[in-house]
This record gives sequence, C-alpha cells and structure tokens, in this order.
Amino acid sequence: MSILKMAETQLVHHTDVIPVALLDALPDVLFVFDEQGTYLSVISSQHNLKNLQANNFIDRKINEVWQDPLASLFMNAVSQTFKTGKPQTLEYERQTLHGLGWFEGRTQLLVDSPYGHNVVLFLARDISERKQLEITRNKMESQLNSIYELGFIGFAFSIDGRKWGRVNRYLCELLEYPEAELLSLPWTEFTHPDDILSNMNDYKLMLNGQNDGYSLDKRYISKTGRVIPVHITVRCSRLPDGQIEYVTTMVEDISERVRQESEIRHLAFYDALTSLPNRSHFSDRLQQALKMRHEGVTRYAALMFIDLDHFKTLNDTLGHEKGDELLRLVASRLSDCIKEPDVVARQGGDEFVVLLADAGDDLQSARISSALLGEKILAVLGAPYFIDGLEHNSSASIGITMFAENPPSSDELMKHADIAMYQAKNLGRNMFCFFDHQMQEKVTLRAELSADLRIAIRDEQFRLFYQPQVNHSGLVVGAEALIRWEHPVRGMVSPAEFIPLAEETGVILSVGNWVLKTACQQLAEWARKPGYNMLTIAVNVSVRQFHQSDFVERVLSIIDETGADPTKLKLELTESMLLQDIEDIIEKMTLLKKRGIGFSLDDFGTGYSSLVYLKRLPLDQLKIDQSFVRDLLTDPNDNEIARTIVTLAESMKLDVIAEGVETEEQRDRLASHGCFTYQGYLFGKPVPIESFIFPS
Ligand code: C2E
Ligand code: CA
Ligand code: CA
Repeated sequence: MSILKMAETQLVHHTDVIPVALLDALPDVLFVFDEQGTYLSVISSQHNLKNLQANNFIDRKINEVWQDPLASLFMNAVSQTFKTGKPQTLEYERQTLHGLGWFEGRTQLLVDSPYGHNVVLFLARDISERKQLEITRNKMESQLNSIYELGFIGFAFSIDGRKWGRVNRYLCELLEYPEAELLSLPWTEFTHPDDILSNMNDYKLMLNGQNDGYSLDKRYISKTGRVIPVHITVRCSRLPDGQIEYVTTMVEDISERVRQESEIRHLAFYDALTSLPNRSHFSDRLQQALKMRHEGVTRYAALMFIDLDHFKTLNDTLGHEKGDELLRLVASRLSDCIKEPDVVARQGGDEFVVLLADAGDDLQSARISSALLGEKILAVLGAPYFIDGLEHNSSASIGITMFAENPPSSDELMKHADIAMYQAKNLGRNMFCFFDHQMQEKVTLRAELSADLRIAIRDEQFRLFYQPQVNHSGLVVGAEALIRWEHPVRGMVSPAEFIPLAEETGVILSVGNWVLKTACQQLAEWARKPGYNMLTIAVNVSVRQFHQSDFVERVLSIIDETGADPTKLKLELTESMLLQDIEDIIEKMTLLKKRGIGFSLDDFGTGYSSLVYLKRLPLDQLKIDQSFVRDLLTDPNDNEIARTIVTLAESMKLDVIAEGVETEEQRDRLASHGCFTYQGYLFGKPVPIESFIFPS
C-alpha cells in the first residue's frame, strides 16, 4: 500500500496518549507536516490504532515535541522536502518504552493535499531489529577482521556451517591450499578420515539446533598430505527463528603440543637410547600376561633375560659412545627377532628382556619354541658389529623361564630368568639356560651364606689354618695361612665356597684384614719362640682387597701394630688379578717390598700372564698350581708345563714352590725339574695353629 493511500484511508486525530506509548504501538507511522513543521496528522496503517489519541502531536511543532538533535533532524528533513521537492531519508535513534530504538524516516512532498496546501508526509518505520543485526554484524566483521590478521591462528567463517565462506591467510598456509580452493571444499575433505565421524556428531547437533558450537581436537590433512593436529572451536550465531546465521571456526595448530605429549609418552614407556619399550612398559605387558594366566589361560609363556657378555670391558675400552651404538644395534637386531604380541624391552644397561606371549600349549613345546628363539637370538647377537667402520664381536647369555596357569609373581619370574642367565654366564657364556628350581636353591643358599658372612665377622666364626711349606730336606720353612669358617649350623665351610661370595659382596675386605692381622700376630709370636723365628707365612690376597686404594697403608699399619717382621710375610697374588691396572699393582708391590714384604704368584700357569708384565712385577716366587702337580706323572703336558715354569723362574731369578704335592713321586719329579720347595698333604694338611707342630 502506498503512503498516499494510507493517508487517505486512515486518519487519526487528537489522541491523548503520551507520544512514546503511541509511537511504540505503531510500527509504521505516517506523520503529516506543514511547512512550519507543525504536526497536522498522525496516521497508522493498523486498524486497531484508530482510537488512539494523537493530540500530543496534532497542532504542535516539531521542536515542541522533540528536543535537539532530533528536533533539528526532523525539521531539516521536512524543510528540505518542501524546498527541493525530493524525498529525504534519515535514520535516527530515539527512546522507546523498551529502551533505545532505531527508526528510518522517509519524507515525501504532497502537492494539492486534502489540507488545501502542500504538506510533507513523514513515514517512520521501526528498524531496531535490522539495525541491531547490522550492528552485531559490523562488530563481528570488525572483530573478524582483527582476528583474520592474527598470524598464529586459523580463522574461518561460513554462512550456513557447510562450507567456509571466508578463511584467513594463516589457515590457507596451514592447510597449504590457495584461498579459493579451500573455500570450495567441505570440511570433510580436509579432515583426517578417522576423525570425521567423531566430528560429525557435534556438527549435526549444531545444524539441528541442539548446540551452538563445540570444540574438539582432530587432525586436518593439508593439500600436500601433511597430517596436522588441530584444536577447533566452532561457534554459531542464530537468527531469531533458529536458523544458522553464520558459523565461525577457530583453528589452532597443536602439532607442537601433540608432539610434546607423544614425546612424554615415549619417554615414559620407551627407552631413550634404543627406543625399545622400557622397564615399566615391559612390566605392564608381563603383568597382563600373568593376569591372563590367572584368569584361566593355560598356554605357556616364556620370559627371557638377555645380558651381553663382557659388555663392560667393551664399553670401557671403546668408550661409552661406541658402547651406546652397540646397544642400539643389539636392540634393533633383537626387535627383528620378535614380532607382536611378543615384546622385547631394555631392562637397563646391557640387559634386555623378552616376553614370548604364547610359547606353546604344553611345557615341551614351550621349551622348544623358547629354545629356538634363544638360538636365534644368540646367532643374531653373535654376528659381527660394524661401528665406525670397525668390526666388533659380542655375544650374550640368556636365561629363560616359563609359566602357565598359576604363575608366580612378576618379580619372582624376573628373578628366575635372571638366575638362569647367571647360570648361562657361569657355564661359559654365549648360551642360554632354562631356569630350574635347583638353581634357585643354589642362589638362595648363596644369599643366606652372604648374610651369614657378615655375622661371621662379628661373631668371630673364622679360624686361620696353617699348612707347612718345606724345603728339599723336608724342613719346614714356613706356612700358608688358609682361612676356615666354622659356620654355627653348616659346620666347616670351604673357602672355595665363600671367598668368591665374600669378593662379590665386599665382605672380603674385612675378612682379608682379619686374616692379615691374625697371620701377623702369629709371625710376631713365632719371632719370640726359639726355632720358629725364621718361619714365613704366606697370606692369600684377593683382587678386591689388593685394589683397595689404602691397601698398602692397611698392611703396613698391621705390621706396625702387631710388630711382625715384614720380611717373614709373603703375599700371594693370583695371575687373574694382574689383568687390570698393572701400573697401580706395580706401585703397591714396590711400596710393600721396600718394607721387606715378599710376593708369590699363586696358581701359576693357569692364567694368561704376559711375560712382559711378569718381568715388570717385583715378585719373589712362582707357585706351580696344584692342577699341574696332580697329573705330573701321568700327563706329559702337565709335566712339561711344570718344567717350563721352573725354567722360567730360574731365568727370572725367582724362587719356585709347588703346591698340592701328595706323593713322594711327585716331589721327586719336581725336584728333577729343579723345584725344591713344596706344599701339600705329603708334608701336612692345613691345621689350626695348636696342631701346627714344628716338624724337626
Ligand atoms: P689356594 O691358595 O690355591 O690354596 C691351596 C688350596 O689347596 C687349599 O685349599 C689347600 O687346603 C689345598 N691343598 C693344599 N695341599 C693340597 C694337596 O696336597 N692336595 C689337595 N688336593 N689340596 C691341597 P683351601 O684351604 O680349601 O683353599 C682354597 C682356596 O681358597 C685357596 O686356594 C685360596 O685361593 C682361597 N683362600 C683360602 N684362604 C684364603 C684367605 O685367607 N684369603 C683369600 N683371599 N683366599 C683364601
Ligand atoms: Ca694360595
Ligand atoms: Ca694355589
């Protein structure tokens, strides 16, 4: 309906409502003005407004109803229309009953009006809603514009949520698409296929009006195929009828965070050096396997403990970097031997573990498949390694234990595999051993003994026995001090059994001290006893004891303390202890020798001493090992060795003594080679000092 028609049909005169209330009630209102700006009529298109009183306006001037700046605005529009004859449009904001409202005014000159003169029609229309929307949109656009410029965040805008209508440069760069191409694609095109479904749910809810947005982590795929982890925040704005007006999507590249998280996960579950699963990861897998057995799985699984042979030596001689490289190579070879669901893990150092998740359905077949894997691992790890172009060789010792229903605890299993691995080491390395319960008994016994050893020192359970050493005429020239342990329950324990244990546990230091002190006290006593004062005592010194940094001081202080004659004390070293740190050994020996202490090389012939080293050592005596003496008469080899040792001693100007002499024939044969000092059952067994009778 045209403005004119309206003016003709519905005239409302002289209302008595207040203007605001009136105007509020009229969405479109037509005012009629004369040239002075006097309200002549208020006309509404709505029938129900017929009765509304308009006397607040009628016959009043614009500036009587409104204040500036509205008054001037209206007056100006009216005057302009009269003056130019052209319609004017204006927008203005004014107070309404519901707060500020926006209106659009349009004027038109009406010539030959029913009023008898020209009038101006002024149509006022409430545009608050549209204006509000516009303002929001402007605000949003300006916000968008600033966000669009953000260099570090992706921003996209779409009208209906289906395709992006606008994207910022950052997003184009992130996804490696030209803007136009990116805008042509639905989001499913550049979302990782595995992430579409989880995304779709939220998305559909939004389209259906059940949410106004969502945020989630997902992966985009760039044009070149790069997978980009992102965090997206989607928000939609709705029209009053619920239709989506526009959707904004904020895309945050979270690659770095994801990378860090996966790194942390990796650190927590994988070994940094080899990238194999680490100890705690493995323990989880083992627990799982155990749990399955507790829940009724009867199939056998196997646990393998793998330890590289002599890795420490290699690491020390080649350096840690090369050692690390070897470990990496070992890890990769082991990985190649194993496939899911079996696991290989690094336990630490040069120790690896393997879980054979399903080794067989009975013990026999489990043994076979574990043995086959064991063989394979030994072969694979035994092949040469090339590190920095140089060839290195290594081998491993493996302990295997198997379990099925009602398995022991994981700690127990690890212990079993470890025990079996030690057995493999003891049997000569580069082999595998299956765990059995006797092994465990031996280990338990050792554990008990080593605990008892500590008590033994405190409770003085050690005794020192003496075995005579005689010259060719059978005259006693000295004795070797040999320790005995009177165990309160087990009785006499052989030193062959507990000395290695004491070495391992470190108890040897106090044991060795005690032996030295006791022997020196004995020397001091003999010195005061006529006929005994020329006797020497030979004391066995163990590796660990000798390598103590204050060994020399300890010996000398015992000498001083007891008043023993140092020239009557002889320390027995073994060849094996000469293998490391020869300079330190020479220095210690030289210092002790200065005080008159003598040195004998025990078990000579069984080790690998190099003659070059031997010549540098300030020795006094070589002791032919009893193993050569035993078969002297029957084994030509041993006979030859004994003879060679005597010749060697002569050439090095050293004394020579044979141990383990049990028969006169042995003694005579030794004498024929030139060895005139002996020790052995033929002359006397090791006995307590009370029984050590001077054989005259
Ligand atoms: P060893 O130093 O080689 O000692 C000689 C061993 O041979 C002694 O065994 C001795 O009893 C035994 N023996 C002596 N004569 C004969 C013989 O004619 N026939 C046979 N079959 N055996 C003979 P023992 O006393 O059992 O000592 C074993 C090893 O224990 C010693 O070997 C030595 O290595 C170590 N040991 C003993 N006492 C001490 C000690 O005080 N300190 C250290 N560090 N080691 C010790
Ligand atoms: Ca000895
Ligand atoms: Ca010996």
